[in-house]
Amino acid sequence: MDSFIKSAKKLVNSYDCNCDNECNAKWFKRNFKNWTSGNNNIDKVIQDTQLSEHNNYSVKNALEWIPYDKLYDIKYITEDNKFGKVYRANWIDGCIYKWDNDNQNLIRKDQNMFVILKILNNPASITLELINEIAVFYKAYEVYGITQDPETKNYMVILDDICEKCNEMCNSIHFQRNFKNWINGNNDIDKFIQNTQLSAHYYNVRNALEWIPYGKLYDIKYITEDNKFGKVYRANWIDGCIYKWDNDNQNWIRKDQNMFVILKILNNPASITSEFINKV
Ligand SMILES: [Zn+2]
Ligand SMILES: [Zn+2]
Repeated sequence: MDSFIKSAKKLVNSYDCNCDNECNAKWFKRNFKNWTSGNNNIDKVIQDTQLSEHNNYSVKNALEWIPYDKLYDIKYITEDNKFGKVYRANWIDGCIYKWDNDNQNLIRKDQNMFVILKILNNPASITLELINEIAVFYKAYEVYGITQDPETKNYMVILDDICEKCNEMCNSIHFQRNFKNWINGNNDIDKFIQNTQLSAHYYNVRNALEWIPYGKLYDIKYITEDNKFGKVYRANWIDGCIYKWDNDNQNWIRKDQNMFVILKILNNPASITSEFINKV
């Protein structure tokens, strides 16, 4: 987050875009006419961060103006002495990933993502430094933008979600964001896997189960049958198991690719509980 401010400032100071090709900053600049926060100071802060994105890869440091109606399920969480009231919400659009020059549109990711909203008490005092301070305070990896509650007129900074238990980003949040990307078709099993993932706080992912597509297994061989749990198979698992979260690539690092694993048939999916899994 410190680098966010430094790179934004350095590049803003030398703003003239020297990029030969299309860059994110050029697109952002063309788009200035399509939004306003209604507050010159806030517009300027957002624009400065956008003009610093001189590449045509993924957007890292640009803030954006986020219309309040793009947020839903807005819930008050807590109040802290330093930065006041904190809310949580879901963001329909999700955050900017990059400008797609071929198709002339903006690619976003993580639709309906959870975000944290922090009220800015004095819009006139909003600076990148203040936003940075808030981000550091909340241990946020990303600041996405600024919005305004149309009723209270409060401006709010939108940050990435943090875990209420750990008070920072943890594995549980990374797993939660990925829920929409997998589903096995059985509600009980989905819920069961999700619960183990939501319990994987801090850096411990050992107890988190995951949904493993059958196509990720090969050389599946029948081994034996036992009285209590029935047929047992062995196989190789292409991906290997989750090791830890890689913040640079925003993905899981896995280890032991092609590892041997044991497969055990579950006769009654509705009866799956953690007690049962432990017994297996
Ligand atoms: Zn440029
Ligand atoms: Zn946590």
